[in-house]
Amino acid sequence: TMRAYLVSQDGEEVKGEVTTLPTDQLPAGEVTIEVEYSSLNYKDGLACIPKGGIVRTYPHIPGIDAAGRVIESQDASFKVGDRVLITGYDLGVSHWGGYAEYVRVPAAWVVKTPENLSHFEAMALGTAGFTAAMCLLAMERNGSTPEQGPVLVTGATGGVGSVAVNILAQKGYTVAASTGKADQHDYLRDLGASEILSRDDVSVTDERPRPLLKATWAGAVDTVGGSTLSYLLRTTNLAGNVALCGLVGGHNFNGSVIPFLLRGINLLGIDSVACPMSYRQDIWQRLATDLKPNNLDQMSQVISLDDVTGAVGEILQGQVKGRLLVAPK
Ligand code: NAP
Repeated sequence: TMRAYLVSQDGEEVKGEVTTLPTDQLPAGEVTIEVEYSSLNYKDGLACIPKGGIVRTYPHIPGIDAAGRVIESQDASFKVGDRVLITGYDLGVSHWGGYAEYVRVPAAWVVKTPENLSHFEAMALGTAGFTAAMCLLAMERNGSTPEQGPVLVTGATGGVGSVAVNILAQKGYTVAASTGKADQHDYLRDLGASEILSRDDVSVTDERPRPLLKATWAGAVDTVGGSTLSYLLRTTNLAGNVALCGLVGGHNFNGSVIPFLLRGINLLGIDSVACPMSYRQDIWQRLATDLKPNNLDQMSQVISLDDVTGAVGEILQGQVKGRLLVAPK
């Protein structure tokens, strides 16, 4: 049997609770892994509520991230005892995820954990850290360098935001951070931010906003979307790169073609779920080496399966700071 956080449907409602299940109920897959840590991402929060738009079939075990050791493998690439991690694909979405003592997954989803990355570090990063790295690499592929000027990270105290601030600062960028948490400015400065803005400072909410505002940012990692993306499109400097990965501030944004035509800005879409395996492996290697944040301990906290319900409420209200790891044992 295994302990798991199971989300079940009851009419219009869904309810999560810690339970014990037979391991033979695990979904099909070539590789079975004993989970050391999973983590809580915004998407996991959505997977635990009705109409979150993530889960279609119940009962469901959430957890889009997992790291642990292989205990069974029908695939020659993995053997018992291998240290592995999984992020994205269908894990925790249409396939039972990491909030359980075991996961069973297709071998094609599994990444060997780099040697110099502990499973605590791997899941302190998780999908959030992986996405932050994808944002930085996309910006640099499009020509971003620290010399071009300051970059803005939005939703900065969140999971993606915290890692992005830390990695960009370590790489030599001047990092500005926008946050709704007035009491967390010291935290953001410790991660490497040199300027802090409020959410209002980085939102365009007028009904008929001007197409351009003062060119301020050489680039941005945007976890918020909505009115914050409306702001970024108007304030990104010549040939600047906005890596867009999130939607906590809303799906729709207001913008025009003008910044693209008059400032040559680039809006870069980031999708961590379907990132191809070879690029995925490269990114994890870099997260274990030159992109490894130096403040992972400070931004991370471990919770148990019993804490998941409370933490889901917090992340959906934007109240989580940094990263929460979930330890299923
Ligand atoms: P998170 O830890 O909850 O971080 C989100 C942060 O955004 C919050 O901590 C808060 O930071 C800010 N925020 C929350 N509600 C807001 C609102 N209404 N308006 C403005 N800011 C708000 O979540 P996460 O796991 O880092 O994910 C962040 C976003 O990225 C989510 O939308 C997630 O779905 C997306 N994501 C996408 C990918 C991808 O592959 N595209 C991968 C990972 C995550 P402050 O209090 O500091 O403002």
